[in-house]
Amino acid sequence: MASRVDDIWGERTPFVHGDPWPERIDTVVDGAAERWVQSACVLCSNGCALDIGVRDGRIVGVRGRGVDRVNHGRLGPKGLYGWQANSAADRLTQPLVRRDGQLRPASWDEAMNLVVERSRSLLAERGPSAFGFYTTGQLFLEDYYTLALVARGGIGTNHLDGNTRLCTATAGQALKESFGADGQPGSYVDVDLADTYFHVGINMAETQTVLWMRHLDRLHGPDRPRLVVIDPRRTPAAREADVHLAVRSGTNVAILNALIRELIVNGWVDQEWVDEHTVGFTALEKTVAEYTPERGAEICGVGPDDIRRAAAVLGEAERMLTFVLQGVYQSHQATAAAVQCNNVNLVRGMIGKPGAGILQMNGQPTAENTRETGCNGDLPGFRNWQNDAHVAELAQLWNLETLQIPHWGPPTHAMEIFRYAEQGSISFLWIIGTNPAMSLPELRRIRSILAQDRLFLVVSDAFLTETVEYADVVLPAAIWGEKTGTFTNADRTVHLSERAVEPPGEARADMDIFIDYANRLGLRDKDGQPLVKWSTAEECYRAWQECSKGRPCDYSDISYNGLRGGSGIQWGGERLYSDGLFPTGADLAEEYGHDLVTGYTFTKAEFQALNAQRRAILKPSKYVPPADAPNEEFPYQLSTGRTVYHFHTRTKTGRAPELVAAAPDVWVEMAQEDAAELGAGEGDLLRVETPRGVVEARLRVTGARRGVVFVPFHYGYWDDDDGDRTRAANELTITRWDPVSKQPIFKTTACRVLKVGDGRGPAPAPTTTASEPA
Ligand code: SF4
Repeated sequence: MASRVDDIWGERTPFVHGDPWPERIDTVVDGAAERWVQSACVLCSNGCALDIGVRDGRIVGVRGRGVDRVNHGRLGPKGLYGWQANSAADRLTQPLVRRDGQLRPASWDEAMNLVVERSRSLLAERGPSAFGFYTTGQLFLEDYYTLALVARGGIGTNHLDGNTRLCTATAGQALKESFGADGQPGSYVDVDLADTYFHVGINMAETQTVLWMRHLDRLHGPDRPRLVVIDPRRTPAAREADVHLAVRSGTNVAILNALIRELIVNGWVDQEWVDEHTVGFTALEKTVAEYTPERGAEICGVGPDDIRRAAAVLGEAERMLTFVLQGVYQSHQATAAAVQCNNVNLVRGMIGKPGAGILQMNGQPTAENTRETGCNGDLPGFRNWQNDAHVAELAQLWNLETLQIPHWGPPTHAMEIFRYAEQGSISFLWIIGTNPAMSLPELRRIRSILAQDRLFLVVSDAFLTETVEYADVVLPAAIWGEKTGTFTNADRTVHLSERAVEPPGEARADMDIFIDYANRLGLRDKDGQPLVKWSTAEECYRAWQECSKGRPCDYSDISYNGLRGGSGIQWGGERLYSDGLFPTGADLAEEYGHDLVTGYTFTKAEFQALNAQRRAILKPSKYVPPADAPNEEFPYQLSTGRTVYHFHTRTKTGRAPELVAAAPDVWVEMAQEDAAELGAGEGDLLRVETPRGVVEARLRVTGARRGVVFVPFHYGYWDDDDGDRTRAANELTITRWDPVSKQPIFKTTACRVLKVGDGRGPAPAPTTTASEPA
């Protein structure tokens, strides 16, 4: 099966519009499996259904589930090989406690008592705001819902967020701004039905590999849809595109405004639908009027006729499906740009209809659940912190006084949580299943925050990550395959993942750890009963069904039993908003929205003044240049990102031999012309510098646009013998974020590049992806 590392998307199974996507069962198994256990992949937001092969109490492989609506049996390289991390020799198998400066093995009692003692004294001395919780997009729904209850309801802190802030905060925010609530309008089935795909800042071929297979099977089928791609890099999708707009990084709003203007001036607007189902068209028309193709071309560094051609493809589409990801979300005008993507579909009336819709994609596998359950900047069940009735409803569900649930201001976002820890107002930080010492921007600063003596740091993880190095207490976590629970992919498909094997050593499920913490700390409801009323994943899920009932993300009809045996099931049905009604009533809305340029939070009265009343909101935005623009000293734009073979900081994929061999080390990509100007060639050693740090890596010369320097952010120092820290891309990035979604900026850091050594062969970069040599 090594060929599936090279042959990333596997054999083509072309099909035509309206036919079901043919099944293809992808399997990797090491010897024979004794039994197969139902699950889904947790290595990206696609959520491909699979069965876990088990022999002698160990995971020995995976097999795609043909019956499932998401993948029809297919798996990508990460899904096929990532399971090997479960039995890696360096799993954490017992708690660790820092003594005399060293992390040493401890019992669960010893570790938890330490955490609880510190919590108790802090609660008494400083109150709930001394606590911060920073979680992930890779746990299960049941873990998150329990954490939201413990942190928001039990401790009563507003400082709970996920690393989804780095990947999917803008997706949720853009959906709230346009439609009143989070929730992907589109469906993967629309890939089978669309006649036009619009990809904005998404390298789907690498980040949602199996979804790209579905595209390829249409693109290589008899009735090929048309494809427009906006991306500074020459991604595999860009190579397949009818029009590729390789825009200058940080100019998404300008290009989208130019496209919307073209749609309007050429009469490609579905005016009847717009008049009936939206508000704000006049303001949008006025704002985009100045973005002629020539002005858009000048700002974005593309040809004006290319903008016209792209607009014509979008304008002539009958069923247009739009995908958006990090190229939009990790920019300075992230929400403003993501909302303009919504606007493209809205002005064309292309939402809630077969083949027509929007997928503001998620990055991480269970990011959707982080948002739904209130583990990011929202209250559980897409409830609105500004709506007293929503907070009271939650208090009733949790049997707490309303004032126990913090709602005096927006829930604290991750970048602010770390700032509070830096300033000392947060002195207890619990980091769960994520690795900020590698993934947050400006790592030197993050290391200094984590290393403070005054910060009590608890880390739950399955592995000794870079972040664990700073912990006071380390709690070993059970992961996928070792616990039961559910999770939801980017098109709202819920999957059940059953426990296949025992966790190693004393590792425990995160949900169990939170319940143990709550019970030891004596967290109670207002009647003096234990706060957390469940002890199994299924009991927790039932409580979640109750919490989500009647909300946009209503799980009440999706039971564990319903999820067993067949396909995953979508909440909200095939696609949202088929009736043209949006949750923009003031009583329904998850948020009252923001000014897209400044980030100002609208009040209920300001929201009501829009008079949306169940209509979608067309919110315009002017283009604003990035603050960290290239200059004489730092003339390039650094963009960080991923390759198909690794997930984030490689905590799992760095422990799968095939994936490590396919992309073993960091590299830096530059355009041919830029490399030539530098006097550098393929494989030469380059030094990338910003005012915050340095990375050294071998050069891959690619077909990207000039001025872009790409460095994958997967590579850290945990497997370096020499303690070399110059491989991590986030040594270079900047502490700045989108004013609306608060998502950090990873795509437009001004940098300079120097050649520091000659090459000894090609860069250690994959050759089959966006990193393809020029
Ligand atoms: S596309 Fe995503 S969910 Fe599917 S197998 Fe690959 S990594 Fe796993």
